[in-house]
Amino acid sequence: MSTLPLTLEPLTLENVTRRFSPHLPPVIDRLNLSLQPGELLTLLGPSGCGKTTALRLIAGLDTPDEGRIHVAGREVTQPFIPPEKRGVGLVFQDYALFPHLNVLQNVLFGLKHLPRAQRLPRARETLALVGLTVFEGRAPHQLSGGQQQRVALARALAPRPALLLLDEPFSNLDAQLRHATRQDVRHILRQSGTAAILVTHDQEEALAFSDRVALMRSGTIEQIGPPTHVYGQPETAFVASFLGRSNLISGTAQGQQAHTLLGHLPLHEPASGPVMLSVRPEQLMFTLHGTPATVKAREFGGRDTLYHLQIGEQELLMFTSDPQVHREGASVNISVQGAARIVR
Ligand code: ATP
Repeated sequence: MSTLPLTLEPLTLENVTRRFSPHLPPVIDRLNLSLQPGELLTLLGPSGCGKTTALRLIAGLDTPDEGRIHVAGREVTQPFIPPEKRGVGLVFQDYALFPHLNVLQNVLFGLKHLPRAQRLPRARETLALVGLTVFEGRAPHQLSGGQQQRVALARALAPRPALLLLDEPFSNLDAQLRHATRQDVRHILRQSGTAAILVTHDQEEALAFSDRVALMRSGTIEQIGPPTHVYGQPETAFVASFLGRSNLISGTAQGQQAHTLLGHLPLHEPASGPVMLSVRPEQLMFTLHGTPATVKAREFGGRDTLYHLQIGEQELLMFTSDPQVHREGASVNISVQGAARIVR
């Protein structure tokens, strides 16, 4: 199943701004974004940062106060193109399937714009794509949550949208099903070559699902890039702490190293003067002659253990797979492996 010509950018946002009150800061503040064909992008950020508002603006369920949006090369903001004419598919958390229609009828529902003869083959082709052919006669309540979510996906994909918007689509599923459904959806989007934006506040989901992650804060994108890049090279303290866990440590930089309460730490880039550093919990390790610390708490997590450590006023997190158990109150010595990253 192919979508639009591969050269068109499925989506561009140019300085998109949305304010709900003249007395408050904008909820979306000069947002710029563009998607590559077939790209899977996640908008990740804390509650209230504007993720859902951004999706609603792209879908046409709301209108920006300033800025322009293009879908598949066509401007949809001025003049305003209504949601059903934008070539954008939507999948929400609560599936929103029609309970009185069976699976096939649910998928057919979005195909009324097609010539009659094309509707059934298209619906069946899409049901095959999501692996639900044998369930086409069932009512939604006769399906599991994950299957219902795949029907919602089929219904959104059947019109072959230029872009699919997924708003917390996995959050009603339990942990195991959530994981499996997420992988299924990713695979289906890859197969159909559909570009998609996923909104979530689950960082693990964002890292696992996307080609790029956009970290949102107060209506703007604070950092955007491939998951390994955003996780490995956070530019700000907010990104370092929101994506994974991070120890933020102040220090004084001199060239390629900084003096900190953990001793001299190597830096990824040279600097001078006061700096804020991000050190990932997995970079800390127990050593014989490292910096003395006290164990405040210990959380066994199966594959590894999370230690909460205290050095003076500073609390530190440490992940280790070291089988030796250090109990609460124990005195330990720690050191840092690898370089620290300077964050703003
Ligand atoms: P969550 O993860 O909790 O869903 P979010 O990042 O999706 O959060 P939005 O739902 O986009 O956040 O909301 C962003 C901000 O805009 C919030 O402060 C919200 O209260 C405000 N807001 C959203 N819609 C409206 C509206 N129609 N009128 C006034 N304020 C609104």
